[in-house]
Amino acid sequence: MKKKIVIIGGGIGGLSAGIYALRAGYDAAIYEKNHVAGGECMGWDRKGCHIDNCIHWLTGTDSNTSVWQVWNTMGAIDENTPYADTNKFYSSCLNGQEATLLEGA
Ligand SMILES: Cc1cc2nc3c(=O)[nH]c(=O)nc-3n(C[C@H](O)[C@H](O)[C@H](O)COP(=O)(O)OP(=O)(O)OC[C@H]3O[C@@H](n4cnc5c(N)ncnc54)[C@H](O)[C@@H]3O)c2cc1C
Repeated sequence: MKKKIVIIGGGIGGLSAGIYALRAGYDAAIYEKNHVAGGECMGWDRKGCHIDNCIHWLTGTDSNTSVWQVWNTMGAIDENTPYADTNKFYSSCLNGQEATLLEGA
C-alpha cells in the first residue's frame, strides 16, 4: 500500500507538492479551504476591480533557471511556450483608464 501525503493548501506550492508526491510514488490529498484551488495565483474581483497579476508575469520563464524546470515538470510550460519580453512591471486598469509602471523608467 502506498504511503499517503496530506497537503494543506491548494496554492501553487501545494499543487506542485502534490505533483511531486505522485511522481515519487506517494498518494497525495490536497485540502483547500476555498472553493477553487490556485491561491494567490488566482485572479479575483474586489470592489469593482479585477486583481490578476500572477498570470501575466511568471517567474521562471528563462529555460536556464531551476524554476523553469519546476514549471516544466508540472506541465505548465515547455520549450515551445511563447512569452512576451516586456518592460512593463505593473499595470492597473480602472474605468477604462490604465496606469503602468515601466521597468527602468
Ligand atoms: C497580487 C499578486 C500578484 C502576484 N504576481 C506575481 C507574478 O506576477 N509572478 C509571480 O511569480 N508571482 C506573483 N505573485 C506571487 C505568487 O502568486 C505567490 O508567491 C504564490 O502564488 C504563492 O503560492 P503558495 O502556494 O506558496 O501560497 P498561496 O497561493 O497563498 O496558497 C496557499 C493556499 O492555502 C490555502 N489555505 C490556507 N490556509 C488553509 C487551511 N487552514 N486549510 C486549507 N487551505 C488553506 C489558501 O486558501 C491558499 O489557496 C503575486 C502575488 C499576488 C498576491
